[in-house]
Amino acid sequence: MALIVQKYGGTSVGSADRIRRVAERLLAAQRGGADVVAVISAMAGVTDGLIKLAQELSPQPSAREMDALLATGEQGASALVAMAVNSLGGKAVSLTGAAAGIVTDGAHTKAKIAHISPRRIHELLAEDFIVIVAGFQGQSPEGAITTLGRGGSDLTAIALAAALKATDCQIFTDVDGVHTCDPRVVPEANKIDEIAYDELLEMAGAGSKVMQSRAVEFAKKFGVGFEVRSSLRDTPGTKAKAAPANMEDVVVRGVSLERKQAKVTICGVPDRPGCAGEIFSAIAAANLSVDMIVQNASSTGMTDLSFTLHHDDFLVAEKILTPLVSRIGASGMTATSGVAKLSVVGIGMRSHAGVASRLFACLGRAGVNIQLISTSEIKIAVVIAEDELERAAQVTHAAFGLARPRLATTAADG
Ligand code: ASP
Ligand code: MG
Repeated sequence: MALIVQKYGGTSVGSADRIRRVAERLLAAQRGGADVVAVISAMAGVTDGLIKLAQELSPQPSAREMDALLATGEQGASALVAMAVNSLGGKAVSLTGAAAGIVTDGAHTKAKIAHISPRRIHELLAEDFIVIVAGFQGQSPEGAITTLGRGGSDLTAIALAAALKATDCQIFTDVDGVHTCDPRVVPEANKIDEIAYDELLEMAGAGSKVMQSRAVEFAKKFGVGFEVRSSLRDTPGTKAKAAPANMEDVVVRGVSLERKQAKVTICGVPDRPGCAGEIFSAIAAANLSVDMIVQNASSTGMTDLSFTLHHDDFLVAEKILTPLVSRIGASGMTATSGVAKLSVVGIGMRSHAGVASRLFACLGRAGVNIQLISTSEIKIAVVIAEDELERAAQVTHAAFGLARPRLATTAADG
């Protein structure tokens, strides 16, 4: 018998009306002949609201109590979904993560799933219940409530799909799938039908966040195929799997954009062991996360070192590095915000040449200056001026043939 895991994010359960629509979907899936397990996130805004309340009462609330607090958001939403199913004449029960058998380590606020014992879920399914599981949470071996990190309901869904050997795992959200680029920037952007786990991971890291990255990593590790689709419309979404059908032919799957970046360049860094270590230790000690790091080859005994980070962290980075620049004997530093990152991602790059040249040439033709370049096996990323991002995205999207194919006119149309 088919077993479907459906996950609904915060906006999909954001109001009574939307919860009713979720209940209708769950019932329709069950009527279709499947066992149905739903994973529910907190209603939109609830987790943030709880965090805010906690901060009002304590500057540094204990991680254990934060978990006990935040887990309630998912529990409330799950109970509401179960009520909605029941009031439509169906049979549903809600379970906390712990009751669903999700056991984690004891790392509060960022717990890892240790194992899942889904006995209770199976019993309830056997009695024809739709089982509603509160996402984002589990229980430590000592029995304390734990949470899985922000966005963790995605992970709950993927992990449950693996543990239950689900035939389908569907992640319902407020967009209709993963797109070739942000449709607000590139109106011709297409929904992607199939995508590789690795591409989804790279795109998330490059600014196109559709799902929690840890959940995608888990899916990759355990081979859990899933579909990201809209809870508001009835259209097929994007299927994530190890090897999409047209994997080799599609050179670039999508163009990811990340705004609000800043770029720091330290010039004339002495070319000796330990300098990069000193610079990045200072940054790490301030708990700043850097993204692209580029160092130039040196021919004069000096090298230039650049990196990017979120523009909110830029002033702190500048403050920390100013004394360090003279201490290590570098000649100076420039720091600029107002830059953005554009990345092209595709596993087809492993087997196709000329991707970099096509990207750089199209940006050149559009008069977009490239400030930094970095690559991975399946990604090429460039840093450009933020006010040129839209134009750059549009020309790049077109250059890689990602635009929506025009609707074919029929022969009768002539
Ligand atoms: N409610 C949690 C959050 O906002 C978990 C989730 O939505 O998946 O991060
Ligand atoms: Mg969420």
